[in-house]
Amino acid sequence: MTASLQGQMMDMPLTVSALLAHAARFYGTVEIVSRRIEGDWHRYTYRECERRAKRLAQALIALGVEPGERVATFAWNGYRHLETYYGTAGFGAVCHTINPRLFPEQIAFIINHAQDRYVLFDITFAPLVDRLAPQCPQVRGWIALTDDAHRPDMRTPVSSYETLLAPHDGAFDWPRIDERSASYLCYTSGTTGHPKGALYTHRSTVLHAYGAALPNALGLSARDVVMPVVPMFHVNAWGIPHAGPLAGAKLVLPGKDLDGRSLYELMEAERVTFSAGVPTVWLGLLAYMKEAGARFSSLERMVIGGSACPPAMLRAFEDDYGVEVIHAWGMTEMSPLGSLVKLTGEERRRPPAEQRKLREKQGRAGFGVEMKIVGDGGRELPWDGVTFGDLHVRGPCVIDRYYRTDTSPLIDGWFPTGDVATLDADGCLHITDRSKDVIKSGGEWISSIDLENIAVAHPAVAEAACIALAHPRWNERPLLVVVKRPDAQVTREELLAFYADKVVKWWIPDDVVFVDELPHTATGKLQKLTLREQWRDHVPPSARGDADCPLTDVSTDLNADHAGCVPPSDRATRSPP
Ligand code: ADP
Repeated sequence: MTASLQGQMMDMPLTVSALLAHAARFYGTVEIVSRRIEGDWHRYTYRECERRAKRLAQALIALGVEPGERVATFAWNGYRHLETYYGTAGFGAVCHTINPRLFPEQIAFIINHAQDRYVLFDITFAPLVDRLAPQCPQVRGWIALTDDAHRPDMRTPVSSYETLLAPHDGAFDWPRIDERSASYLCYTSGTTGHPKGALYTHRSTVLHAYGAALPNALGLSARDVVMPVVPMFHVNAWGIPHAGPLAGAKLVLPGKDLDGRSLYELMEAERVTFSAGVPTVWLGLLAYMKEAGARFSSLERMVIGGSACPPAMLRAFEDDYGVEVIHAWGMTEMSPLGSLVKLTGEERRRPPAEQRKLREKQGRAGFGVEMKIVGDGGRELPWDGVTFGDLHVRGPCVIDRYYRTDTSPLIDGWFPTGDVATLDADGCLHITDRSKDVIKSGGEWISSIDLENIAVAHPAVAEAACIALAHPRWNERPLLVVVKRPDAQVTREELLAFYADKVVKWWIPDDVVFVDELPHTATGKLQKLTLREQWRDHVPPSARGDADCPLTDVSTDLNADHAGCVPPSDRATRSPP
């Protein structure tokens, strides 16, 4: 760093407790509404929330939890979980949110790896806790997030949260802590190998909250009613439990019932203006809206991310229901927000079809996120919207190394995201694949995400995944695996024909297979590794040369198309390695 004249402003650390303290002080009467696991509703204010978070801090300190020690949660989105976010990190302990949808073996690994001292859990997870407890000997106590009356009958000795809080009065000052000390710990789902921990700092969490609240990001304010559907056990619910209090927004925490009807009723009852979640959960909401003929009376904006937002979903929310969709990209290692789609004034004046194309991409980086795309040998590639390469990022909210590992994942100071993308001249990001999911046909890359998006735009398709099949001539060719909508009919040939005017010929999948359901990871993403294993021995017709296959001459077409290698106008190819 260059030596320079020191500035003369206060050296106040950025700490997460300040977020809740701010909300309690200046938006003290703004509500937090939760649908409780016990079955009823709970409502209170930021002021009461802070007081109870302080009581939790007092209780944990009384139990002997030291700053820096990890306290884990298995919990849905609810007020006690929110109190735990602050009642741990607020005094310097580390809040470790665990995804209960992972395999129990993975969870046990995570608890032991993180060396969690206490685990706070929603009563729905009592059977899971009974299964885990014998495998996690260093956990000192398991605490049910409920009162004594609702404490479940369990093999594991557990105490109740309310009994724990009872002796404490909340007369507690949040301590001043080093902003570089750890705040939250989140493990990635680890579709390959063991899960890996991203250990955030107070500084990174607060900076992320500032960035997330900005108008070009989530755009939260005190007039908003914010309902995070993305779970608080998944990358801190994309920062909403921090950005919400920072903005003084009312929070609606939906608990465990995330079906379309429950979400819709909650949105209407509490006048929700803003929500956020992964595409899968919105599929359920859209299906319910259609079936019930329902309309939104308050919902203005929603963030869709975690996997690519299918264009058909974007259209449905915007055109049919008048809700602005903010397509977002990010990852656990980035705290997680990386980029979002917010169009500039000039872009909003472009023809609707052009605007739509921009909205379907992943948008511009938020402030504090630097990006580049690199090709073979780390060569930086141009921002032309055509050339695609490995996406690398850096910034104050990006991971430097994984928790309790010695090796750095960085390459020349940049974090390789594992995503393959293009960047256009205006900095607009388009994710085309995970690097491990990309389909390489004759040395050229085919975007599985684009092929899936086209498939789900077909009225008979509920969900689709596109994976690489080994091919004797082209090395890999796309296979489309489809779940049909209930009662809908479509044939393999009809689906293949659906691609004809949408992609170049050599991108058209070689085969289509129909299944009842697709495998998903614990965070709702398609589990393509499992799919690839399931379909490893499937031989595409192009490799068999079946006479009645519409793509029987695929090898000739591929030859011609690969030779000229003319991609669709808005897509790209990367030169073969
Ligand atoms: P995991 O625990 O599975 O790693 P993350 O939420 O960290 O969960 O996953 C991050 C990955 O999800 C990204 O690297 C990217 O591949 C994918 N992803 C997230 N948002 C989008 C999006 N809007 N479009 C395409 N892919 C996305």
